[in-house]
Amino acid sequence: MTSSQKSSILLIYTGGTIGMKVDPTLQALTPFDFKQILEEVPELRKFAYRIDSWTFDPLIDSSDVEPSLWIALAELIEEKYEDYDGFVILHGTDTMAYSASALSFMIENLSKPVIFTGSQLPIGMPRTDGKENLISAVEIAAAKDAEGHALVPEVCICFDNILMRGNRTCKMNSDNFRAFRSENLPPLAEAGISIRYDSNIIRRPASWDEGPTFRKTLDTRVAILKMHPGITPQIVRDIMCSPDTRAVIIETYGAGNAPSKEWFLEIVQAAASMGKVILNVTQCIAGSVNMDIYATGKCLKDAGVVSGYDSTTESALAKLFYLLGNFRDNEEVKRMLEEDLRGEISK
Ligand code: ASP
Repeated sequence: MTSSQKSSILLIYTGGTIGMKVDPTLQALTPFDFKQILEEVPELRKFAYRIDSWTFDPLIDSSDVEPSLWIALAELIEEKYEDYDGFVILHGTDTMAYSASALSFMIENLSKPVIFTGSQLPIGMPRTDGKENLISAVEIAAAKDAEGHALVPEVCICFDNILMRGNRTCKMNSDNFRAFRSENLPPLAEAGISIRYDSNIIRRPASWDEGPTFRKTLDTRVAILKMHPGITPQIVRDIMCSPDTRAVIIETYGAGNAPSKEWFLEIVQAAASMGKVILNVTQCIAGSVNMDIYATGKCLKDAGVVSGYDSTTESALAKLFYLLGNFRDNEEVKRMLEEDLRGEISK
């Protein structure tokens, strides 16, 4: 059930296609003044919510997103937390899965919705998907239960009528309206004639009264090594043993398998003995790492490699940035990686 109490939403615009309009003089896409969002999407008025907007300066294509944006978003949400019932973040689709993953780790005990959305076509174009996405995101961000608690107190991505846990998503399509997928977790909600919420999957805060804790320190000394046939020892060594990293994510094959060649294992062991955190994430679109099935996986486990279970690479990277930023001891980081902190892995 949704409370009839008037809700207040903060729309945060960071950039991306959704906020673009064709400038008739330039004949090119340019960002429009987001203060006019209610003129562009008059349907939002029908909700009778209080909708305020906040525009980042400069607006960026999300390919330019840096962790500094995540910190700025966390600071903004922290500052405005008591003033709004929910937050909708308009963001380019290219790195939205990274940003949603990062925010999910940076806000602990979240009790209000933080919904990312965007679009494949600018909001100022006739066939835009931006309006649907924005309207659904706002409705979900405002939805409350009979006790006045948020229906979805999570960091999510709302796209093409599907609400997904942010840290479970990947961008999968660069031109279809269904731009995101969450293969290892079913949707938290689906918008049809009505919005159907799956309360068995939606997470709730440990305490509704305590309020969230914002963790704004990130350590980005992480590298990603994608395995492929033909990869050379030199490249593996350069990535695994670089003095500039504290952690390496290995994107392995299938259920967490890597080459069984001696040189490969020697490099992994060398990186582990340097104290690096090594996390195993599968290249597969769906499914999980299980280092107990094949000999190649077992060797990685014996070398001290940690399982990423069914984590996406985006989420694994964000989790590592967060854990390394908050824990000095790499052994503690390894222990925390094994834990399901924000619904990012199924164990
Ligand atoms: N390149 C754009 C961005 O990620 C694409 C989009 O908005 O969908 O900012």
